[in-house]
Amino acid sequence: ASGSDDNDVVVIGGGPGGYVAAIKAAQLGLKTTCIEKRGTLGGTCLNVGCIPSKALLHSSHMYHEAKHAFASHGVKVSSVEVDLPAMLGQKDKAVANLTKGIEGLFKKNKVNYVKGYGKFISPTEISVDTTEGENVVVKGKNIIIATGSDVKNLPGITIDEEKIVSSTGALSLKEIPKRLVVIGAGYIGLEMGSVWGRLGSEVTVVEFGPDIVPAMDGEVRKQFHRALEKQKMKFMLKTKVVGVDTSGNGVKLTLEPAAGGEQTTLETDVVLVSAGRVPFTSGLDLDKIGVETDKMGRIPVNEKFATNVPGVHAIGDVIPGPMLAHKAEEDGVACVEFIAGKHGHVDYDLVPGVVYTHPEVASVGKTEEQVKALGVDYRVGKFPFLANSRAKAIDDAEGIVKILAEKETDRILGVHIMAPNAGELIHEAVLALQYGASSEDIARTCHAHPTMSEALKEAAMATYDKPIHI
Ligand code: FAD
Repeated sequence: ASGSDDNDVVVIGGGPGGYVAAIKAAQLGLKTTCIEKRGTLGGTCLNVGCIPSKALLHSSHMYHEAKHAFASHGVKVSSVEVDLPAMLGQKDKAVANLTKGIEGLFKKNKVNYVKGYGKFISPTEISVDTTEGENVVVKGKNIIIATGSDVKNLPGITIDEEKIVSSTGALSLKEIPKRLVVIGAGYIGLEMGSVWGRLGSEVTVVEFGPDIVPAMDGEVRKQFHRALEKQKMKFMLKTKVVGVDTSGNGVKLTLEPAAGGEQTTLETDVVLVSAGRVPFTSGLDLDKIGVETDKMGRIPVNEKFATNVPGVHAIGDVIPGPMLAHKAEEDGVACVEFIAGKHGHVDYDLVPGVVYTHPEVASVGKTEEQVKALGVDYRVGKFPFLANSRAKAIDDAEGIVKILAEKETDRILGVHIMAPNAGELIHEAVLALQYGASSEDIARTCHAHPTMSEALKEAAMATYDKPIHI
């Protein structure tokens, strides 16, 4: 690690926001240093988030399919077992390869990488306690804060990463718990609950609010909720955890209706706390240079990602907006484009959201509830995967496509997909919304047969006219 005095850009944090900003800045000809304390690049997403969770979702899905679906496809297997250390090992290998890949990209693009904890001395100087035990000062004309987010703690619940785990601990459990309680029915809780549920845990999700994943289109959510219940995931909605006792062998939770009332207890082996994430700025000494944060600890920025202190910018999970890796990446690119004197742009209305369970749920644009609230006259077109030939051929047909379009112009306002690979299918819709397409535009676009994507075409037909296959 070495300090450097004449950086155009210094990025604090090497997550998807920070490392992408650093690479893009270097590509734009700016002298760039990225400071990361973790020891590896890729941030939450690559080390303890998106990537390891998707690795485990895939591996656990394969096990579940081998156990429950292969036979119906005429594939006989005599015994199917989980080798948990091997499963976790494949996840760790994927993570290690990808983090090293980013180091390679830094070298290729000549981004200077400083391993250590950064804190502000002034708006142009960062003091770094390096992982090698030194202290260096890194200077730069522009600083980008990309320090991301951390697990949100719940009052009275201490995470020990063994019996009471965060998402990080849930990615590395040493054995498959017989019973798992997930606190919080957001996408992270449902994804991790799915992983361990498929491997054999009895999963109960306790949620304070009245619904799972509240941001989802209500109709799709109902179907999704049912799909998870069919997989034997249990839900206790409108319920709060008021006490945790870890003194015995397992964990004893005391629960209470969200509105107050009689208490009950629930015994389990492992508890996953996934009640959201909070912006991470501790140890940065923001107050020393006067960077403001809001009530939720986020750093407010203007449309050019500038904070209230000239030359200091912020991107990703640490600023307001959806806490998603691809959003952080978009922020990072746009932010350095502004720094380079170019024009950057992120369309926050068109950030897709995906829940990587099975089936997956993906969406872009407005939900029906949001369209209603806007008072716009709209049409809805739906198509179930049960009527999609590819989904039937592979016997994986649970799901639906739902399109919302403005009645007068047929312009698409929102698309919601529940399907095995909805996270891939959604991008046709993202592009359609980006280009201001009508449902007829999608319906008149030739789609290859037989594909799951045809369900989107049929739902588009159903929006402005009639579908063929139902
Ligand atoms: P981060 O990725 O949090 O990176 C910030 C980095 O800054 C960290 O590496 C941290 O060590 C470093 N840092 C902080 N302070 C300092 C300092 N003072 N000095 C030096 N370094 C510092 N998002 C998706 O889009 N898709 C998914 O499928 C998905 N799955 C997820 C699953 C889980 C279990 C979790 C927890 C998150 C998931 N996310 C997913 C969210 C995603 O990980 C975040 O939105 C994304 O990582 C945010 O990127 P970021 O660059 O803003 O911050």
